[in-house]
Amino acid sequence: MIRDEETLALLLASLSRFVRERLVPNEDLVAESDAIPEELVAEMRELGLFGLCIPEEYGGLGLTMEEEVLVAFELARTSPAFRSLVGTNNGIGSQGLIIDGTAEQKQRYLPRLASGELVASFALTEPESGSDAASLRTTAVRDGDHYVLNGTKRYITNAPEAGIFTVMARTDAANKGSGGISAFIVEKGTAGLSLGKVDRKMGQRGAHTCDVILDQCRVPAANLIGGIEGVGFKTAMKVLDKGRLHIAAVCVGVAERMLEDALRYALERQQFGQRIADFQLVQAMLADSKAEIYAARCMTLDAARRRDRQEDVSTEASCCKMFASEMCGRVADRAVQIHGGAGYVADYAIERFYRDVRLFRIYEGTTQIQQLVIARNMIRQSGS
Ligand SMILES: Cc1cc2nc3c(=O)[nH]c(=O)nc-3n(C[C@H](O)[C@H](O)[C@H](O)COP(=O)(O)OP(=O)(O)OC[C@H]3O[C@@H](n4cnc5c(N)ncnc54)[C@H](O)[C@@H]3O)c2cc1C
Repeated sequence: MIRDEETLALLLASLSRFVRERLVPNEDLVAESDAIPEELVAEMRELGLFGLCIPEEYGGLGLTMEEEVLVAFELARTSPAFRSLVGTNNGIGSQGLIIDGTAEQKQRYLPRLASGELVASFALTEPESGSDAASLRTTAVRDGDHYVLNGTKRYITNAPEAGIFTVMARTDAANKGSGGISAFIVEKGTAGLSLGKVDRKMGQRGAHTCDVILDQCRVPAANLIGGIEGVGFKTAMKVLDKGRLHIAAVCVGVAERMLEDALRYALERQQFGQRIADFQLVQAMLADSKAEIYAARCMTLDAARRRDRQEDVSTEASCCKMFASEMCGRVADRAVQIHGGAGYVADYAIERFYRDVRLFRIYEGTTQIQQLVIARNMIRQSGS
């Protein structure tokens, strides 16, 4: 749903200019230094990028899902590290609060998340619990007006930058399934909360992950999201449903950028006395990529509109995340191929993008987990 065409067009135009003029020229610097320059972070704050999806009453832009997807198409036409920095504030880091938080919890944290003063992280994965997230082992035991949390969370995006963590922990030791899990807001600086060393990753330099360690970490009971025990896993799944549409849109944007780079190279590079773009086998790679990106763009927009109409889009969100991330991998591979040897060395951006986009098929639910979600929903809906 688009609330106001004119306002959205202005936002998309200024974002597109910002990506082209400020982010693209800094891609190499971010990759080499593994950090986003503070002045760019300040500009991202000014543009309102940290609060895109936070409701307007808390200082955000309150984008609808369709608007968010259109914004993600633009923002993703550069290194995914930039999107990653604002991604947790708009997505998995804040949505638990937005969807299920109490009025007081929202008031306490959302305005600072929207302004970018605070960065949020989402801590579900553990060393022994990844795809099987409901088996998580982190415990939260009530002690007076606090909970005492113990456990380790793994690969947590933006943890080194985070001021608050949405942490899923087991409050009911007798319930080993999803019903025993609750969600908490844990503030940086809380005694018993510490971070592991920053992970050395395949790509997306400039975006950081690390372990989040909870050792006798005392969290006020007021920070139990929604004030209700046992619904934290449901909160996490609602957050991930929305996140999957966002990641699908990011895959579309970055694939469009890779294809644009590949087309430019194919038009410049000459072999056998002509542009390689004129060879039909190269044209096949360009055409297949174009068609797949178009398909992913259409399905992501369709699912976003359905979500805005309050439809249950669990199946569609998984279809989009699965198809768009796999598509993005294929486009990256073809774009390297079109660049030939130049695609394998770091002089061209495609070498970096090829590594960066590999992550999209893994996090927020691997391709295999999306397949399980889709097929299980189909079987359930068949009624047999
Ligand atoms: C850079 C990065 C950032 C991340 N950010 C976050 C974050 O911010 N917060 C967070 O909580 N987590 C985060 N994660 C964790 C991420 O979501 C998990 O890595 C992912 O869900 C997979 O879990 P796993 O690594 O334990 O793999 P596993 O679950 O061990 O899976 C290994 C393989 O087995 C397959 N598999 C597992 N179960 C099945 C099954 N039932 N059927 C078929 N195949 C199966 C998987 O598809 C995969 O191919 C991040 C990970 C990375 C690498």
